Amino acid sequence: MNYKIALIRGDGIGPEVVGEAVNVLEAVGRKFGHSFTYEEVLLGGCATDAVGKSYPDGTAEKCKACDAVLLGAVGGPKWGSDKPAEQRPETALLAIRKDLGLYANLRPAALRPAMADACPLKKETAEKGIDLMMVRELTGGIYFGQREKYETPDRGMEAADRMAYSEMEIERIGRRAFELARLRRKKVSSVDKANVLETSRLWRSVMHRLAEEYPDVAYEDMLVDNCAMQLVRDPGQFDVVVTENMFGDILSDEASMVTGSIGLLPSASIGDTAPGLYEPIHGSAPDIAGQDKANPIATILSVAMMLRYSFHLAEEADAVERAVDAVLDQGWRTADIAEPGVTAIGTKEMGRLICQQLA
Ligand code: NAD
Repeated sequence: MNYKIALIRGDGIGPEVVGEAVNVLEAVGRKFGHSFTYEEVLLGGCATDAVGKSYPDGTAEKCKACDAVLLGAVGGPKWGSDKPAEQRPETALLAIRKDLGLYANLRPAALRPAMADACPLKKETAEKGIDLMMVRELTGGIYFGQREKYETPDRGMEAADRMAYSEMEIERIGRRAFELARLRRKKVSSVDKANVLETSRLWRSVMHRLAEEYPDVAYEDMLVDNCAMQLVRDPGQFDVVVTENMFGDILSDEASMVTGSIGLLPSASIGDTAPGLYEPIHGSAPDIAGQDKANPIATILSVAMMLRYSFHLAEEADAVERAVDAVLDQGWRTADIAEPGVTAIGTKEMGRLICQQLA
């Protein structure tokens, strides 16, 4: 089978980590008899340098003609907030997610067995294992609501951000969560603030309706403040956690911290029709760019998610994840995850070892 992948290498360490992820894809192709073809797509600061815009015309169309999109990272001090919006890399990221209709953001937070010492929680807590999937609504809620700022007669300036959710938006993200839970340990925790917010009460009623459609999946409601506590008290209790945009933004960062390094964590953004977009959760790390110091594992695990969720190649995805774990078990570390006294290896060597393990 041939799969076509849009490659957005981006800025900073983006090209280095995407390069290693492509090597891993090629190793998967050789082992399992698939072929991958690539369409290079320019986006971010490098696009601003090349054509004057961070989101060149035709970008979404190029991506839509592919089966999936792999993105390294974009941004850097060269294209900072003093630049006009169309030249800033962040503008391009928001635009591509919107144009591809990517309303579901999937962020697994799993403590890899060899990395248990990197977990900042108590040893007993880490030993229970952490393997959860945050499912965050990505295109609605307060981040996309109407914004206002106005003068009041007696209280100075006032600002307001509107938070709105429709049943349609809640139902489609909810379904994603239940479907994912069926592929995992069959539990959904739906996070809201239904004791205060009207949007959360609607959220909860839609989730309860869906829960009846998925009787094989255990379901619970959880208030967002309680969820923030439970993530540090006992993260092992969670399987799939589904929540709205802003709560998800905050909780997914909290969940990733409990697993140790951002250099290890992948993500996926998916919609209903367009190709899914897969990327590491970290940024372009300009401080270490071009020095063969970046950890490529988050991007390599993003490829595993691509194989699993866009191409439905579970065996291949498992093989990539197992190869990563095996290399970590053997003690190999890039500088960001090296324990004191351990000699770190570079980006290329980490990629090579994972490919070798896979073969
Ligand atoms: P960052 O994630 O790029 O870096 C934070 C720290 O983590 C740095 O010390 C960096 O060296 C380290 N780090 C990150 N990824 C690493 C890896 N794979 N291996 C080893 N170390 C790694 O976050 P930042 O410094 O806040 O942002 C830098 C730039 O990246 C900014 O321009 C920001 O806008 C952009 N950014 C882009 C994305 C994206 O493309 N999706 C996401 C976040 C930030």
